[in-house]
Amino acid sequence: MEPYAVEVNNLHKRFGHIHALRGLSVQIERGITYGLLGPNGAGKTTLIRAIVGLLRPDAGTVRVLGHPMPDKRLMARIGYMTQNIALYEDLTVRQNLAFFAAMAGVVSRARQQIDEVLALVELSDRADSRVRELSGGLQRRCSLACALVHRPALVVLDEPTVGVDPQLRVQFWEHFHRLNAEGVTLIVSSHVMDEAARCHRLGFLRDGELLAEGSAVDLLERSGCATLEDAFLHFAEQVAAVS
Ligand code: ATP
Repeated sequence: MEPYAVEVNNLHKRFGHIHALRGLSVQIERGITYGLLGPNGAGKTTLIRAIVGLLRPDAGTVRVLGHPMPDKRLMARIGYMTQNIALYEDLTVRQNLAFFAAMAGVVSRARQQIDEVLALVELSDRADSRVRELSGGLQRRCSLACALVHRPALVVLDEPTVGVDPQLRVQFWEHFHRLNAEGVTLIVSSHVMDEAARCHRLGFLRDGELLAEGSAVDLLERSGCATLEDAFLHFAEQVAAVS
């Protein structure tokens, strides 16, 4: 088995005059949580969409679980939670989960897996509510459940904890680490630094480039900074000075 869940090599993507990804390369080991950190417009979502096979890069390659992307057969092995909620609002929470499970080919154990993720995101008592009747935070919890229901080997979460209560956020992170222990790889994007320390590795992104990469401890040590915010600025200034 290849050691990497994701291998991105020299990825470029332009949207008109915007160079959203500028020759970005990154390798993500299996069984870890990798945090993509960067300000608005850094290229996090663009990179994520290329990884999950929803965006065709102008140049460069992406391999996921050992296969070149895009590959439709891999969709069942990937869980993707988008930044903007993408659920069927007229369906209930349970119906949405059943739909995502069926799309991934989960049939015989669907009921059990749906009940498990409902419990995880604490939505069991709202399983029969239509999504449009849920608050924004509850919809995000449902969206996370949809990304996990088919037990994917790679889970990609674009800002998963925005609008989620602090206590439940802690539970989510505990669950992410349990998934890691089972060999599942997670990629989590954020521009909130306080959650970053929970990731095994971090990639600092800015202007479509990877400024620096490593564990939180490693990045703090290398930068000589006390916080990840300051470390980010340190690496950004270093790159600016060179270019
Ligand atoms: P945020 O934290 O705000 O979600 P991000 O790091 O995810 O930002 P991206 O959404 O990847 O950033 O955007 C990177 C750049 O590419 C931005 O300048 C954005 O405006 C641009 N961009 C992204 N998608 C498109 C698109 N479909 N058409 C035009 N420009 C786009």
